[in-house]
Amino acid sequence: MENIILIFKFIIGTCLGSHALVITQRLNKENFIWGSSHCDNCQMNLSLLDEIPIYSFLKNKGRCKFCKESIPIVTIVSEILGGFTFFKINFYSFYAILDIIFLFYLLVIALQDFQDQEFSTIFLIPISLITFLSPLSAFYNFELLDWIVLIFLALFFVLEISKSKMGFGDLIIFIFLGLYLGSLVAVHILLLGCILFLIYYLLNPNSHSLAFIPFILGGLIINNLN
Ligand SMILES: [Zn+2]
Repeated sequence: MENIILIFKFIIGTCLGSHALVITQRLNKENFIWGSSHCDNCQMNLSLLDEIPIYSFLKNKGRCKFCKESIPIVTIVSEILGGFTFFKINFYSFYAILDIIFLFYLLVIALQDFQDQEFSTIFLIPISLITFLSPLSAFYNFELLDWIVLIFLALFFVLEISKSKMGFGDLIIFIFLGLYLGSLVAVHILLLGCILFLIYYLLNPNSHSLAFIPFILGGLIINNLN
């Protein structure tokens, strides 16, 4: 039964991941809520079957079925990332929807940061609202140690920002993660994100001006798996 629930969460996550990518790509350009899904190259509308995440990518061998243009790899990557992002949500909880919205916008920000090395501050609105309004936000139960850990790491971020090694957005996301999920969880996620970042950097030594939030999301996903 537990495995079925995990598969269910994964499938929902892939749909959310797919929609998160659409939001980042159509922001300020097209209606991403009611607009129909279409191929960005030939503009042909996709059928419902062609919108099934991962399955449609594999079925059409990563190409548009009309014009045969390659579908960007970020499409399937965001679907798979989405699949793992919502693993820890307790769907039986009344407050699950708050977790889903929080993680969904984190996913949107990570995908936008990955593509543009920046993200739209408008996506911080739902994240900050949920952090401060959800009764399940971790910071309501913070003890002194939690605040010290969070402030200490925030200062580390400020230091890195002053050296232009990190962006202000990375700091904001880390603080919200800490306040919502808890300082120690955020530290764990940050450590895992740094390890992923190092691995990526070692494999791609020539890459520069890397976005860091996708690695934070990667850390969160690995943290979800245990
Ligand atoms: Zn096409």
